[in-house]
Amino acid sequence: MGIAFKSRVQSTKILDPKTGYEEKTLTLETRWDPLTGRTSRVLDLPIKKLDALNMEEMLKRCGDVFCPFCPDVLEQVTPRFADDLIAGGRLRFGEACVLPNRLPFDRYCAVVVLTRRHYCPLADFTEEQLFNGFSIARSFLRRLVEVDPAARFFSINWNYLPMSGGSIIHPHLQIIGGDLPTHYQGEMIEGGRSYRQQGGNIFWDDLLTTEADLGERYLGALGNTAWLTSYAPLGFADIMAVVRERTSIIDLTDQDLGDLARGLLKVFQYFQDFNHYSFNLGLYSGEYGGDDSFWVNARIVTRRLLPPVGASDVSYFEKLHRESIGYKKPERLCEEMKAYF
Ligand SMILES: [Zn+2]
Repeated sequence: MGIAFKSRVQSTKILDPKTGYEEKTLTLETRWDPLTGRTSRVLDLPIKKLDALNMEEMLKRCGDVFCPFCPDVLEQVTPRFADDLIAGGRLRFGEACVLPNRLPFDRYCAVVVLTRRHYCPLADFTEEQLFNGFSIARSFLRRLVEVDPAARFFSINWNYLPMSGGSIIHPHLQIIGGDLPTHYQGEMIEGGRSYRQQGGNIFWDDLLTTEADLGERYLGALGNTAWLTSYAPLGFADIMAVVRERTSIIDLTDQDLGDLARGLLKVFQYFQDFNHYSFNLGLYSGEYGGDDSFWVNARIVTRRLLPPVGASDVSYFEKLHRESIGYKKPERLCEEMKAYF
């Protein structure tokens, strides 16, 4: 069947005041995600590096807000799980601590506080902190499937800093699990199944082979995990990681989690050098106990406030049209990022 990278380029004309109202042609490209068919619009603006932000200002604005995840208060103010789910109420590994989310986004909804430090700049995250955080999240999910066979769909997510929707500065992952996938997770699972049924191959296997051959978006591999820029981006910079032959987060080995942590640190290094301060991350799992047509994968999408008024980078497109805007071609992003892998 093969991977189809469908796209359509269109142009529009304006009379440009910057050049005495001469006619100027602007182009945009619509891309269809090769798995889900969801469309993204790529404008490819001539932006190399974003403006630096004053993070001290951001921290000052958030300075007086009480933080429940700081180590001196965490034990007293955060919820605990019932002992029949998690003996002792919370899970700990190194600096990482798993506790219930107060907001019930799913049947099981947990937070992984990643560090003892309240604000951790991207430059300061260590492989050990990331490994421990994802590892304890995997332990939590392993416990879920032990106690509740109906919990078959999970993901581990991260809103890093308020620009991405994170309401608490203190670095934390969010785990959701239950008997329903999220919309996009469901689309990926169904897309992978029908790809397998139609051609006999695994979409993710074909995707990685095709992307590695093309080399336009392929960043490299760390162990079993391949890193690439997403063909149909969900934001300014959209980076994807795919773990070969693992259908569920529960199946990830320590080696896989270490590779994932090392890859993330490379992405963070790129983010620092190109002034990306905030991101959303989703690490998706296929249906637990389902078939082998899904491979665990992650998407990391940068987020920022737009100058000059600090507008949200999510607009009517994402909210009301379910379509994303990319401002840089994934191929150009790949060129910039390749040196980091
Ligand atoms: Zn804190």
